[in-house]
Amino acid sequence: MTTPVSLTRQGKVGLIAINNPPVNALSQAVRQGIIECVLQAQQDDEIKAIVLYCEGRTFVAGADISEFGKAPMEPHLPDVLHQVESCTKPLVAALHGTALGGGLELALCSHYRIALAGSKVGLPEVNLGLIPGSGGTQRLPRIAGVEKALEMITSGRPVAVESVVEQNLIDQVVEKDLVTAAVGFAETLIADQAEPRRVSEIQLSKSEGHDQLFADWRAKLKKKAAGQQAPQYAIDAIENTILLPFDEGLQKEREMFLACRSSEQSRAMRHVFFAEREVVRVPGLAKDIKGHDIASVAIIGAGTMGGGIAMCFASAGIPVLLVEMTSENLERGLAMIKDRYQQNVARGRMSEQQLQDCIARIGGTCDYADLSEVDLVVEAAFESMEVKREIFSRLDQACKPEAILASNTSYLDIDQIAASTGRPDKVLGMHFFSPANIMKLLEVVRTREISDESLATVMKLGKRIGKISVAVGVCYGFVGNRMYACYGREAQALLLEGATPEQIDKAMQSWGMAMGPLSVVDMSGLDIGYKARRENPNRSDDPLFFRPADMLVEADRLGQKTGSGFYRYDSESRRKEVDEQVIGMIRDEAERLGVTQRTIGDEEIQQRLIFAMINEGARILEEGIAGRSGDIDVIWINGYGFPRYRGGPMQYADEIGLDKVLQGIKAFQDRLGDRYWKPATLLEELVAQDKKFSDWVSKD
Ligand code: NAD
Repeated sequence: MTTPVSLTRQGKVGLIAINNPPVNALSQAVRQGIIECVLQAQQDDEIKAIVLYCEGRTFVAGADISEFGKAPMEPHLPDVLHQVESCTKPLVAALHGTALGGGLELALCSHYRIALAGSKVGLPEVNLGLIPGSGGTQRLPRIAGVEKALEMITSGRPVAVESVVEQNLIDQVVEKDLVTAAVGFAETLIADQAEPRRVSEIQLSKSEGHDQLFADWRAKLKKKAAGQQAPQYAIDAIENTILLPFDEGLQKEREMFLACRSSEQSRAMRHVFFAEREVVRVPGLAKDIKGHDIASVAIIGAGTMGGGIAMCFASAGIPVLLVEMTSENLERGLAMIKDRYQQNVARGRMSEQQLQDCIARIGGTCDYADLSEVDLVVEAAFESMEVKREIFSRLDQACKPEAILASNTSYLDIDQIAASTGRPDKVLGMHFFSPANIMKLLEVVRTREISDESLATVMKLGKRIGKISVAVGVCYGFVGNRMYACYGREAQALLLEGATPEQIDKAMQSWGMAMGPLSVVDMSGLDIGYKARRENPNRSDDPLFFRPADMLVEADRLGQKTGSGFYRYDSESRRKEVDEQVIGMIRDEAERLGVTQRTIGDEEIQQRLIFAMINEGARILEEGIAGRSGDIDVIWINGYGFPRYRGGPMQYADEIGLDKVLQGIKAFQDRLGDRYWKPATLLEELVAQDKKFSDWVSKD
């Protein structure tokens, strides 16, 4: 087996090359190779200075993720890096691509750093619920300053090398010929008889503003990264650079890193990381079916969703034709798109030129005859089966036979929509989330007759427009909205039983949800759910079902847009205020319906909402609507504000134990009846077999 790390010599400069495609991850063999090559170079009297660089597309981009979760193998990274930093000859790291995590820590142990223009450096560990564990928190502040380190480590965001030259993180940026430039740099060091320059020897001391600075960061991240441990640990570790000698700080960093690594939060975030990678491999879809490229699209309906969806394509460089019923509607839709793009320019997210380019890609028409050449159509018209079937049969006539026809319906049966065309193998769902140009999630709904080629094409297209696409099956509400209905149902039931909107929202937010469920409906409009419930062919006949929400709609309280819903909204500031009138209305309705109100604890609220959702998730798996439990988690994290650090509802259930979830559901069943609380068969089966949701693989 060839070794991934090699040493050669060019004059007086030893060249250590890492070659471990695709991203030069720090696998065991790489770690071992670095140690050996540094020792060899040190012993070779001909070598006076060393350059360490990487072959391929990037410098070391981090740890080897295939080693995650396995028993750590020697040599451990901190020992390797100690060896690098202790090298007695000047050692220059030559960076290109993305030097991330362990890659940047390796660069920080090198004595000098030179980088190719356009490269990036960063410590993204917080995104996996970790802190850098090999000196990153101790060395980065020593060289780049405490503030820069706080910014980089707690956000996990990589920065351009050009932006950190001033902080001494990078000694030199070169436009081309990185390795030649690095050798030249090393030769100058030799000529100047320069000594190794070790970041760990830089002494930092506490200054007057430091206490305030750290207190401010702690408070800021308590809000911004609410509930997360790793960013707070990162601050503690960085603070140690001004309080403790290097070795002690390093020791503490390691302890905190290990605590993070074995934490529930990091397990959850690593699960999401892998689930998001896995989701592109659609169960049952042969690997060799790659799908084809889509060169142009049309969108039916230039309303809230149609406009946002058009932006997704235009921003990815794909020409879009917007189709509306009247030129007035079309003009309004186009103006809304321009307005949203302009907001992006104002926020510095895009340039004026990019705005012009995007706008130029969007055309409009009211004539279906103009759709004869498009490769794909996304329908985002009114949520009505009749309207959609009519549109699809017109599209079937107007579009070329190979065009794919997608619907953005939230709930409707797409198999029925497909049946109104003569090409059901090319009809499927592309369920975007609002605002479509911002939300990452796309549910790709697999119809009964969809061909593998069409499905693969749409999955590929989803990736091209920057979405996380998850393939799901046809059912009422697909995966996300179907589970959300159970979550919402329990919130509504709890209102009748005596919890207030504010109590429910606060309980769920403190559990980690980005927003409380009642604030969410107020924001999106209570009428949307009301209409959807009315049009559900299998509507519940339970008089309590979503009664508070329906009652508010009937009283013209539609949420933020009418100034009142579950809360009241100040007409000027639009600030949310508790509304005693609503609480009274719900109390009266509960009495009318014979529901006795009581004091309800936050824990019951959290359990009712989350367990209801998990139970439905189990049914979704059982029915094959989702292929893997991780797919459900990816949907909840990217579409519904579920906290990443809890890993998604199914991972959360696996983490606390399915037996505990089943027990909880059975306790609710005893108290509240069978209608909503019958445990899913799959959940019972998995508990009986002592298995987890993540062990379950669809038989299809
Ligand atoms: P909307 O009312 O804002 O827009 C619908 C647009 O479609 C209107 O501008 C209307 O003029 C146009 N339209 C209707 N029939 C047409 C036809 N035959 N030809 C051309 N244009 C036509 O509605 P929306 O909120 O954008 O929702 C559109 C679809 O997306 C619905 O199926 C909805 O369920 C779904 N959806 C909505 C959301 C959301 O949060 N709003 C989220 C996901 C999916």
